[in-house]
Amino acid sequence: MAYIKFWGVRGSIPTPGPATVRYGGNTSCVELRDGDQLWILDAGSGIRDLGNALLKEKKPVQAKIFLTHTHWDHIQGFPFFTPAYIPGNEFTIHAARDTEMQLKDLIAGQMNPTYFPVELSDMGSILKYRELSEGSYELDDLRLDTLYVNHPGNTLAYKFFLKSKTVIYISDNEPFEPALAENETEVLGEDGNRKFIEFLRAADILIHDAQYTPEEYAKHKTWGHSPYTYPVDIAGQAGIRHLVLFHHDPLHDDDFIDDMLEKTRLYALSRHIELRITAAREGLKIDL
Ligand SMILES: [Zn+2]
Ligand SMILES: [Zn+2]
Repeated sequence: MAYIKFWGVRGSIPTPGPATVRYGGNTSCVELRDGDQLWILDAGSGIRDLGNALLKEKKPVQAKIFLTHTHWDHIQGFPFFTPAYIPGNEFTIHAARDTEMQLKDLIAGQMNPTYFPVELSDMGSILKYRELSEGSYELDDLRLDTLYVNHPGNTLAYKFFLKSKTVIYISDNEPFEPALAENETEVLGEDGNRKFIEFLRAADILIHDAQYTPEEYAKHKTWGHSPYTYPVDIAGQAGIRHLVLFHHDPLHDDDFIDDMLEKTRLYALSRHIELRITAAREGLKIDL
Protein backbone atom coordinates (compact mmCIF):
# COMPACT_ATOMS: atom_id res chain seq x y z
CA MET A 1 0.00 0.00 0.00
CA ALA A 2 1.66 3.20 -1.18
CA TYR A 3 0.01 6.57 -1.23
CA ILE A 4 0.39 10.34 -0.93
CA LYS A 5 -1.90 12.15 1.50
CA PHE A 6 -2.14 15.91 1.87
CA TRP A 7 -2.43 17.39 5.38
CA GLY A 8 -1.56 21.03 4.60
CA VAL A 9 -1.60 22.66 1.16
CA ARG A 10 -1.49 26.39 1.95
CA GLY A 11 1.50 28.68 1.58
CA SER A 12 2.80 31.40 3.87
CA ILE A 13 0.28 31.35 6.74
CA PRO A 14 -2.62 29.16 7.91
CA THR A 15 -5.97 30.39 6.60
CA PRO A 16 -8.85 28.86 8.58
CA GLY A 17 -12.39 30.04 7.94
CA PRO A 18 -15.55 29.31 5.97
CA ALA A 19 -14.05 30.37 2.63
CA THR A 20 -11.24 27.78 2.76
CA VAL A 21 -12.95 24.66 4.13
CA ARG A 22 -12.83 22.68 0.89
CA TYR A 23 -9.10 23.06 0.12
CA GLY A 24 -8.11 23.62 3.73
CA GLY A 25 -6.19 26.29 5.60
CA ASN A 26 -3.18 24.41 7.00
CA THR A 27 0.35 25.10 5.78
CA SER A 28 2.53 22.55 3.98
CA CYS A 29 2.57 18.93 5.09
CA VAL A 30 2.37 15.83 2.92
CA GLU A 31 2.45 12.19 4.00
CA LEU A 32 4.16 9.67 1.78
CA ARG A 33 3.72 5.98 2.61
CA ASP A 34 5.06 2.81 1.15
CA GLY A 35 4.09 -0.16 3.30
CA ASP A 36 5.59 0.42 6.76
CA GLN A 37 7.75 3.30 5.58
CA LEU A 38 6.56 6.77 6.46
CA TRP A 39 8.01 9.97 5.04
CA ILE A 40 6.71 13.37 6.03
CA LEU A 41 7.29 16.23 3.63
CA ASP A 42 7.45 19.56 5.46
CA ALA A 43 6.17 20.34 8.93
CA GLY A 44 3.70 23.19 8.39
CA SER A 45 0.58 23.36 10.53
CA GLY A 46 -0.87 20.32 8.70
CA ILE A 47 1.56 18.05 10.57
CA ARG A 48 -0.53 18.51 13.74
CA ASP A 49 -3.48 16.59 12.27
CA LEU A 50 -1.14 13.99 10.76
CA GLY A 51 0.33 13.49 14.24
CA ASN A 52 -3.12 12.99 15.74
CA ALA A 53 -3.94 10.42 13.04
CA LEU A 54 -0.67 8.57 13.78
CA LEU A 55 -1.57 8.42 17.49
CA LYS A 56 -4.77 6.59 16.58
CA GLU A 57 -2.70 3.82 14.96
CA LYS A 58 -1.49 3.05 18.52
CA LYS A 59 1.99 1.88 17.57
CA PRO A 60 5.48 3.36 17.74
CA VAL A 61 6.14 5.87 14.99
CA GLN A 62 9.37 5.94 13.01
CA ALA A 63 9.55 8.42 10.16
CA LYS A 64 11.85 10.49 8.05
CA ILE A 65 10.88 14.15 7.82
CA PHE A 66 12.03 16.12 4.79
CA LEU A 67 11.93 19.91 5.03
CA THR A 68 12.16 21.75 1.73
CA HIS A 69 13.44 24.74 3.76
CA THR A 70 12.95 26.30 7.15
CA HIS A 71 10.60 29.21 6.42
CA TRP A 72 7.85 29.36 9.06
CA ASP A 73 5.14 27.80 6.93
CA HIS A 74 7.26 24.65 6.60
CA ILE A 75 8.24 24.16 10.24
CA GLN A 76 5.58 25.90 12.34
CA GLY A 77 3.57 22.72 12.97
CA PHE A 78 6.46 20.75 14.44
CA PRO A 79 6.02 21.99 18.05
CA PHE A 80 2.43 20.65 17.84
CA PHE A 81 3.39 17.27 16.39
CA THR A 82 2.43 15.10 19.37
CA PRO A 83 4.28 11.90 18.28
CA ALA A 84 7.56 13.82 18.67
CA TYR A 85 6.86 14.10 22.42
CA ILE A 86 6.42 10.35 22.94
CA PRO A 87 9.40 8.22 24.08
CA GLY A 88 9.99 5.27 21.78
CA ASN A 89 9.16 7.20 18.63
CA GLU A 90 12.00 8.21 16.32
CA PHE A 91 12.29 10.89 13.68
CA THR A 92 15.12 11.91 11.39
CA ILE A 93 14.77 15.44 10.09
CA HIS A 94 16.37 16.19 6.72
CA ALA A 95 16.92 19.62 5.15
CA ALA A 96 19.42 21.57 3.10
CA ARG A 97 22.68 22.39 4.84
CA ASP A 98 22.76 25.99 6.00
CA THR A 99 26.06 27.83 5.87
CA GLU A 100 25.53 29.56 9.20
CA MET A 101 23.38 27.40 11.46
CA GLN A 102 23.09 23.70 12.16
CA LEU A 103 19.76 22.11 11.29
CA LYS A 104 19.09 21.20 14.90
CA ASP A 105 19.50 24.85 15.93
CA LEU A 106 17.21 26.00 13.12
CA ILE A 107 14.47 23.70 14.44
CA ALA A 108 15.15 24.59 18.07
CA GLY A 109 15.01 28.32 17.33
CA GLN A 110 11.24 28.49 16.95
CA MET A 111 10.91 26.66 20.30
CA ASN A 112 13.16 29.11 22.11
CA PRO A 113 11.43 30.05 25.42
CA THR A 114 10.85 33.58 24.09
CA TYR A 115 8.53 32.16 21.46
CA PHE A 116 7.19 28.87 22.83
CA PRO A 117 6.65 27.32 26.28
CA VAL A 118 8.23 23.92 25.51
CA GLU A 119 11.77 23.48 24.27
CA LEU A 120 12.95 21.07 21.59
CA SER A 121 15.01 19.22 24.20
CA ASP A 122 11.77 18.48 26.10
CA MET A 123 10.45 16.37 23.25
CA GLY A 124 10.63 12.75 24.38
CA SER A 125 11.18 10.99 21.06
CA ILE A 126 14.57 10.32 19.51
CA LEU A 127 15.28 13.17 17.10
CA LYS A 128 18.07 12.88 14.57
CA TYR A 129 19.19 15.39 11.96
CA ARG A 130 20.66 14.94 8.52
CA GLU A 131 21.81 17.87 6.42
CA LEU A 132 21.62 17.40 2.66
CA SER A 133 22.89 19.19 -0.39
CA GLU A 134 22.26 18.61 -4.06
CA GLY A 135 22.75 15.00 -5.14
CA SER A 136 21.60 11.38 -4.88
CA TYR A 137 21.11 9.56 -1.61
CA GLU A 138 20.36 6.04 -0.45
CA LEU A 139 18.54 6.30 2.88
CA ASP A 140 17.74 2.81 4.17
CA ASP A 141 15.35 1.51 1.52
CA LEU A 142 14.79 4.89 -0.07
CA ARG A 143 16.53 6.35 -3.09
CA LEU A 144 16.28 10.10 -3.14
CA ASP A 145 17.53 12.83 -5.46
CA THR A 146 17.68 16.48 -4.43
CA LEU A 147 18.09 19.75 -6.29
CA TYR A 148 18.32 23.37 -5.17
CA VAL A 149 15.38 25.37 -6.50
CA ASN A 150 14.75 29.06 -7.00
CA HIS A 151 13.40 30.30 -3.68
CA PRO A 152 14.99 32.67 -1.15
CA GLY A 153 17.32 30.69 1.14
CA ASN A 154 18.49 27.12 0.61
CA THR A 155 15.45 25.27 -0.66
CA LEU A 156 15.44 21.71 -1.96
CA ALA A 157 13.33 19.79 -4.43
CA TYR A 158 12.92 16.13 -3.49
CA LYS A 159 12.55 13.25 -5.91
CA PHE A 160 11.47 10.04 -4.18
CA PHE A 161 12.00 6.76 -5.99
CA LEU A 162 9.34 4.51 -4.45
CA LYS A 163 8.88 0.91 -5.50
CA SER A 164 5.83 1.68 -7.62
CA LYS A 165 6.18 5.30 -8.62
CA THR A 166 8.50 8.31 -8.64
CA VAL A 167 7.17 11.35 -6.80
CA ILE A 168 8.63 14.87 -6.89
CA TYR A 169 7.86 17.40 -4.19
CA ILE A 170 8.65 21.07 -4.84
CA SER A 171 6.68 23.20 -2.44
CA ASP A 172 8.19 26.62 -3.15
CA ASN A 173 9.84 27.51 -6.43
CA GLU A 174 9.94 30.24 -9.03
CA PRO A 175 10.89 30.06 -12.73
CA PHE A 176 14.61 30.50 -13.21
CA GLU A 177 15.16 33.83 -14.89
CA PRO A 178 18.26 35.97 -15.41
CA ALA A 179 16.54 38.68 -13.35
CA LEU A 180 17.07 36.53 -10.29
CA ALA A 181 20.81 36.22 -10.79
CA GLU A 182 21.66 38.16 -7.66
CA ASN A 183 19.90 35.92 -5.22
CA GLU A 184 21.73 33.06 -3.55
CA THR A 185 20.37 30.26 -5.69
CA GLU A 186 23.24 28.52 -7.43
CA VAL A 187 21.51 27.52 -10.63
CA LEU A 188 20.22 30.39 -12.68
CA GLY A 189 18.66 31.42 -15.94
CA GLU A 190 18.52 29.03 -18.87
CA ASP A 191 21.08 26.68 -17.30
CA GLY A 192 18.92 26.46 -14.23
CA ASN A 193 15.87 25.60 -16.28
CA ARG A 194 17.72 22.92 -18.24
CA LYS A 195 19.08 21.30 -15.09
CA PHE A 196 15.64 21.49 -13.56
CA ILE A 197 13.92 19.73 -16.48
CA GLU A 198 16.53 16.95 -16.32
CA PHE A 199 15.78 16.50 -12.64
CA LEU A 200 12.04 16.26 -13.32
CA ARG A 201 12.30 13.74 -16.12
CA ALA A 202 10.69 10.31 -15.73
CA ALA A 203 8.70 11.19 -12.64
CA ASP A 204 5.11 9.99 -12.33
CA ILE A 205 3.73 12.72 -10.10
CA LEU A 206 4.90 16.30 -9.66
CA ILE A 207 3.68 18.29 -6.66
CA HIS A 208 4.63 21.89 -7.43
CA ASP A 209 4.15 25.45 -6.23
CA ALA A 210 1.32 27.18 -8.14
CA GLN A 211 0.70 30.05 -5.77
CA TYR A 212 -0.11 32.77 -8.31
CA THR A 213 -2.09 33.58 -11.41
CA PRO A 214 0.16 34.96 -14.18
CA GLU A 215 -1.13 38.46 -13.36
CA GLU A 216 -0.26 38.09 -9.68
CA TYR A 217 3.13 36.63 -10.52
CA ALA A 218 4.03 39.73 -12.54
CA LYS A 219 3.72 41.72 -9.31
CA HIS A 220 5.57 39.20 -7.12
CA LYS A 221 8.68 38.28 -9.05
CA THR A 222 11.62 37.24 -6.83
CA TRP A 223 9.23 36.19 -4.04
CA GLY A 224 10.05 32.59 -4.88
CA HIS A 225 6.70 31.29 -6.13
CA SER A 226 5.25 30.28 -9.48
CA PRO A 227 2.31 31.19 -11.68
CA TYR A 228 0.16 28.12 -12.48
CA THR A 229 1.41 28.15 -16.07
CA TYR A 230 4.98 27.28 -15.06
CA PRO A 231 4.46 23.78 -13.59
CA VAL A 232 2.34 22.92 -16.65
CA ASP A 233 5.16 23.95 -18.98
CA ILE A 234 7.87 22.08 -17.10
CA ALA A 235 5.69 18.99 -16.63
CA GLY A 236 5.12 19.04 -20.39
CA GLN A 237 8.83 19.35 -21.12
CA ALA A 238 9.74 16.56 -18.69
CA GLY A 239 6.99 14.17 -19.85
CA ILE A 240 5.20 14.05 -16.49
CA ARG A 241 1.59 12.84 -16.54
CA HIS A 242 0.14 14.04 -13.24
CA LEU A 243 0.62 17.52 -11.78
CA VAL A 244 -0.61 18.51 -8.32
CA LEU A 245 -0.92 22.27 -7.76
CA PHE A 246 0.36 23.15 -4.29
CA HIS A 247 1.15 25.99 -1.85
CA HIS A 248 -2.09 27.92 -2.40
CA ASP A 249 -1.95 31.63 -1.72
CA PRO A 250 -3.54 32.68 1.60
CA LEU A 251 -5.64 35.25 -0.32
CA HIS A 252 -7.22 32.58 -2.53
CA ASP A 253 -10.49 31.12 -1.27
CA ASP A 254 -12.04 27.84 -2.44
CA ASP A 255 -13.89 29.35 -5.40
CA PHE A 256 -10.74 31.15 -6.54
CA ILE A 257 -8.73 27.90 -6.47
CA ASP A 258 -11.52 26.11 -8.40
CA ASP A 259 -11.21 28.81 -11.03
CA MET A 260 -7.40 28.58 -11.09
CA LEU A 261 -7.61 24.81 -11.54
CA GLU A 262 -9.94 25.26 -14.52
CA LYS A 263 -7.65 27.89 -16.05
CA THR A 264 -4.62 25.63 -15.51
CA ARG A 265 -6.36 22.80 -17.37
CA LEU A 266 -7.31 25.15 -20.21
CA TYR A 267 -3.73 26.40 -20.38
CA ALA A 268 -2.42 22.80 -20.68
CA LEU A 269 -4.95 22.14 -23.45
CA SER A 270 -3.93 25.30 -25.28
CA ARG A 271 -0.31 24.12 -25.18
CA HIS A 272 -1.28 20.58 -26.27
CA ILE A 273 0.17 19.15 -23.07
CA GLU A 274 -1.51 15.93 -22.02
CA LEU A 275 -1.57 16.23 -18.27
CA ARG A 276 -3.79 15.20 -15.40
CA ILE A 277 -4.02 18.25 -13.11
CA THR A 278 -5.23 18.20 -9.52
CA ALA A 279 -5.36 21.04 -7.01
CA ALA A 280 -4.03 19.77 -3.67
CA ARG A 281 -6.55 19.87 -0.83
CA GLU A 282 -6.43 18.68 2.74
CA GLY A 283 -7.43 15.03 2.98
CA LEU A 284 -6.71 14.26 -0.68
CA LYS A 285 -5.19 10.80 -0.99
CA ILE A 286 -3.52 9.60 -4.17
CA ASP A 287 -2.82 5.87 -4.38
CA LEU A 288 0.49 5.00 -5.99
ZN1 LIG B 1 6.26 28.14 1.71
ZN1 LIG C 1 9.52 29.69 1.61
